[in-house]
Amino acid sequence: MMRRAILVCAAAAAMSGVSGMAQAPARVPDYPTAPVPISDVTFADAFWAPRLETVRSITIGATFRQSEITGRIKNFEIAGGDAAGEFCSRYAFDDSDVYKIIEGAAYALAVRPDPALDSYLDVLIAKIAKAQEPDGYLYTARTIDPSKPMAMAGKERWTNLEHSHELYNLGHLYEAAVAHFQATGKKTLLNVATKSADLIARTFGPAGLRYPPGHQEIEIGLVKLHRVTSDPRYLALAKFFLDERGNPAGHKLYGEYAQDHKPVVEQAEAVGHSVRAAYMYSGMADVAALTGDRRYVTALDRLWDDVVLRKLYLTGGIGATGAWEGFGPAYDLPNSAYAETCASIANALWNYRMFLLEQDGKYIDVYERAVYNAMLSGISLKGDTFFYPNPLLSLGQHERSPWFACACCPSNLPRFMLSIPGHAYAVAGTDVFVNLYVQGKARIKTPQGVFAFEVKTDYPWSGDVRIMITQVPPSGGPILRLRIPGWARGEPVPGDLYRDVAPVDGGVTLSVNGTPESNLSRRIVRGYLTVPAGSRVGTFYDLRLPMPVRRVVAHPAVKADEGRVAIERGPLVYAAEFADNGGRVTNLQLSDNAALSPQARPGTLGGVTVITGQATAYRTRQEKTVSETVPLTLIPYYAWAHRGKGEMAVWLAREPGKARPAPEPTLASRSKASSSEGGKSIQGLNEQYEPADSNDHTAIYFHWWPKKGSTEWVQYDLPAETAVSETSVYWFDDTGQGECRVPRSWRVLYKQGNQWLPVETRDTFGVAKDAYNIVRFTPVTTTALRVEVVLPAAFSAGIQEWKVK
Ligand SMILES: [Zn+2]
Repeated sequence: MMRRAILVCAAAAAMSGVSGMAQAPARVPDYPTAPVPISDVTFADAFWAPRLETVRSITIGATFRQSEITGRIKNFEIAGGDAAGEFCSRYAFDDSDVYKIIEGAAYALAVRPDPALDSYLDVLIAKIAKAQEPDGYLYTARTIDPSKPMAMAGKERWTNLEHSHELYNLGHLYEAAVAHFQATGKKTLLNVATKSADLIARTFGPAGLRYPPGHQEIEIGLVKLHRVTSDPRYLALAKFFLDERGNPAGHKLYGEYAQDHKPVVEQAEAVGHSVRAAYMYSGMADVAALTGDRRYVTALDRLWDDVVLRKLYLTGGIGATGAWEGFGPAYDLPNSAYAETCASIANALWNYRMFLLEQDGKYIDVYERAVYNAMLSGISLKGDTFFYPNPLLSLGQHERSPWFACACCPSNLPRFMLSIPGHAYAVAGTDVFVNLYVQGKARIKTPQGVFAFEVKTDYPWSGDVRIMITQVPPSGGPILRLRIPGWARGEPVPGDLYRDVAPVDGGVTLSVNGTPESNLSRRIVRGYLTVPAGSRVGTFYDLRLPMPVRRVVAHPAVKADEGRVAIERGPLVYAAEFADNGGRVTNLQLSDNAALSPQARPGTLGGVTVITGQATAYRTRQEKTVSETVPLTLIPYYAWAHRGKGEMAVWLAREPGKARPAPEPTLASRSKASSSEGGKSIQGLNEQYEPADSNDHTAIYFHWWPKKGSTEWVQYDLPAETAVSETSVYWFDDTGQGECRVPRSWRVLYKQGNQWLPVETRDTFGVAKDAYNIVRFTPVTTTALRVEVVLPAAFSAGIQEWKVK
């Protein structure tokens, strides 16, 4: 909320499964592992297939429609001279949202013809082409009126690259263009992209401009453009932009926020904006693969350790803080988690590339965790509302939204989700990697010929998987490398950031044509079980990944999770939500010995397996804490926030002292709250969460931001006419993160008839931070009370909690 105005929106990058090297025209050096294109993979399961169908039938249309409503598409029309007016959306990076949705739409077309979508894209691409200037420059925020470009655009081309997103937008254009070309064979958008990239190649370089983009992304796009055109300049440019980062010889450094504090090959800690970071890491992996430069890999290995051992949420989300949409210090993982949807996508894209580079299942473990949990929380089951942050704890303040002014997340989801089938399998020489277990089919072009199989499984609800060979190359089948996820081997994440309370290991079994194989654990290398594929059609493999309900705890250095436990089953992280648990979950405590069992509920939340058991609920009764045993139901985290607003927690109290007893109703909690700012976050006044300090972002806080300097109020309409004589206000103050401070002054008014009168008191109206400011006054009998504040001249203000007596 209190993000800086430069809201440098995260955005996106997808490793297109379409660009599988098995099909690439020219044999340029690339990853040692090739993705299997999405067009050769069919998902026919109950989990992903319906979700991807929703993306195709709902999300793509909904996000294109929002792009029309918000002026994002009109910007191209104005820039191209087909409409009049000024730049009519909010941010200079809004062009990129349109490119990202085109990329998603192209993946939809790659697997199934859709003439209506195809021609919608044709019309849209013609508008984009017309918005491109004759020399290839494409950036509607300037082209619309070069004499009056948008503020963040900079006065002249390329003069404000730290904030302009000029190059960032192009990265998404290039990705979209490659996807559209590969899906349709049309070069309409690809020609726009190469014309643009040629301008970049003429403008930037050792002898030209030496500014890296403020927001990474063009590196990924340039590599994809290089793959389809074999033009070496594009790869050289991607490497150039990476190598100019942290290099003060060519530009004034942008700092840690944009990972521009030291050369990329020297970076050892994940810092700054997390989407920028993970797009950069993805670009580094691409360039390492295509150039063979191992210095990038050495740096990536260090950075990966820093993220996965110290900065990864259990859900696979990254970026703990909203203040800079990015990484906090090591182990600082508050459950108010920012964990932007784009950052989960970026994390998955990066880990997928690390797998392509190093063929180690640990990267797919992180990918799977991010994709099945943090990323999927970002989109509703209906596919038309979205989360930007994905917290692991809610007190009821969160709900998905159809769009955002900074719309990076909604536009990122279609392209990422539709590329997931392209991440399921990969091929390297005679090895076929099975990364994701999804019912369906795959047809894999290996150097020996086509190898095809069918998968039957109810994953992620069951760990039983049958793979049946349906086609084998004449020279024999390849070697199958079946991923054995860390969670099935007693290692929920690589490293020690999270661990099982009671490790489960040794339960994985495999049989071939019904005959059990032995010594499996010795055959698991780098997370993959190696099985020679039979040379016979009809051979079948039955893999069983045990899926007990697992209790997970965090590393002791993660203070937010101290004394807490989270529940997982298979690849899914579970959460307790108010709707299943009597309206509250923060008051629940789960003992280690309480039995938990999975239960399939086909009719709930699109069909889920819930986990049921018993917990202890704590309540305050006449100022004493009482407890009782209550039924507990947990749902998969990704499915939360579909049944209204209320409490949700991934990390439940394990120690009784960590449960927050449900408070008794008070005069404040029974009052109706309102404010001079309307209803936004108004429940923060009386939700009865005791804040740890004024800057506590876990509590719901009410605020008047962005108002500054004015006189404002909040009001309680009491449940009945009542005598009151005391009020206590706990101010919100987010110094260091946002623009709220304690007010300049305040007073208390009570309602008499139609008048608001000040209360009589000798007490001071305090503005202390981190405490209640109590004011006692001559008793008044009234139906409503107000706190009236004068905001500081240059700041806003807010309230954590307001009590009355
Ligand atoms: Zn985003």
